[in-house]
Amino acid sequence: MTLPRFKRILLKLSGEVLMGKSSFGIDPETVARVAGEIAAAKEAGHDLCLVVGGGNIFRGLAGVAQGIDRTTGDYMGMLATVMNALAVQAALEKIGVETRVQSAIPMASVCEPYIRRRAVRHMEKGRIVIFAAGTGNPFFTTDTASALRAAEMGCDALFKGTSVDGVYDADPKKVPTARRYDSLTFDRVLADNLKVMDASAVALCRDSDIPIVVFNIRGEHNLASVLEGKGRATIVSN
Ligand code: UDP
Repeated sequence: MTLPRFKRILLKLSGEVLMGKSSFGIDPETVARVAGEIAAAKEAGHDLCLVVGGGNIFRGLAGVAQGIDRTTGDYMGMLATVMNALAVQAALEKIGVETRVQSAIPMASVCEPYIRRRAVRHMEKGRIVIFAAGTGNPFFTTDTASALRAAEMGCDALFKGTSVDGVYDADPKKVPTARRYDSLTFDRVLADNLKVMDASAVALCRDSDIPIVVFNIRGEHNLASVLEGKGRATIVSN
């Protein structure tokens, strides 16, 4: 299937992607490779902004399991995304890509606060803006933050980099007969509870008419091929 070509995209990088083959934390080799692919996409003429997850370091619900209350755990999770954002920023700047990190929780001595107009201006100047701390609110996820920032930044699509090459009707790592979709509607994803992104993120993309492109970012050069409209991915749209 030929995918549409998008100019301005928001790329969501989950914590899982950043930890590479490790079971926790940040894998510098993986971060460097992903940074290289982001730089190549920019070279190819795309405008990019990023939202990074935090699950490789901390998730609010993991805190709950350890007796930490949900809101505190969620704030810890949001702080984890800031660490990941700084790691991605360092890797991008190392290869000469100009970036800015903007956090939804202001931390003046670490990065900029999230200011939409300023983020738009950075993108106009060719910088890659990395959005950290999710939405800044507990009980949300970085998936929802991705949908929100994609809408705010006027992105043509939300690219979700995962460890599988699209959306399946069951977990392909557990069910060998799982069926892969080339395309889906937002309503079908919500009705069938397909695991694309969480429901609030899917609904926000549906209402803002921003397609979600799910692809395997672990494969080398997959981002470039999907951006060229050639790679394997599932596109979710209205
Ligand atoms: N989080 C939050 N509000 C947000 C975004 C994230 O409270 O708007 C917290 C939540 O605890 C979440 C953690 O940050 O578990 C890490 O984010 P997420 O699980 O989305 O990361 P990913 O799965 O993409 O690595």
